[in-house]
Amino acid sequence: MSIRRILTFPEPFLRETARPVENITGDTAKWIDDMAQTMYAAPGIGLAAPQVGLDQRIIVLDVAPDDDEEPGKDRGKHLIHVVNPVIVEADGETTFEEGCLSVVDFRAEVDRAARVLVRGWNLDQQEIEIEADGLLAVALQHEIDHLEGTLFIDRLSRLKRELYVKRVKKALREGRPIAQRRAASESN
Ligand SMILES: [Zn+2]
Repeated sequence: MSIRRILTFPEPFLRETARPVENITGDTAKWIDDMAQTMYAAPGIGLAAPQVGLDQRIIVLDVAPDDDEEPGKDRGKHLIHVVNPVIVEADGETTFEEGCLSVVDFRAEVDRAARVLVRGWNLDQQEIEIEADGLLAVALQHEIDHLEGTLFIDRLSRLKRELYVKRVKKALREGRPIAQRRAASESN
């Protein structure tokens, strides 16, 4: 297992549509391990393969709150992975403040479906279904967006998005890193 570098906006690879996984192999298992380790190390609550430079439709999530007294104690216990995830049902509306490991130092409220039914595959080559509401429903939609090259900032008003884009461009122009400060525990 290894921790991979997380690509950040405006990296063009984050805008690509990811390829479906055609065969679930040892490589798939390794990629999922790497993604999980990278997500926990960040720390974040979800990660999509394109965020670590993999052209594959794979997502990992763990939205269970960490144990403050023993950080890392429950690590992996609530880990979810989905290969080739598809949203087959979505209803209701909810608004959550989202962050993203690929959108550094920025959080904003995003409107999404309140409940989703996601279908996909697991490493045992079984077809799986996940019915979710609350934070998990939001995180699933956020990660599946990544597979289409969509970032949460694309779902904001143009004004809000431009404020962030300008900030990133200015930082890049001045050759300084974008501030790393973020409430990372809920980034995905
Ligand atoms: Zn994200």
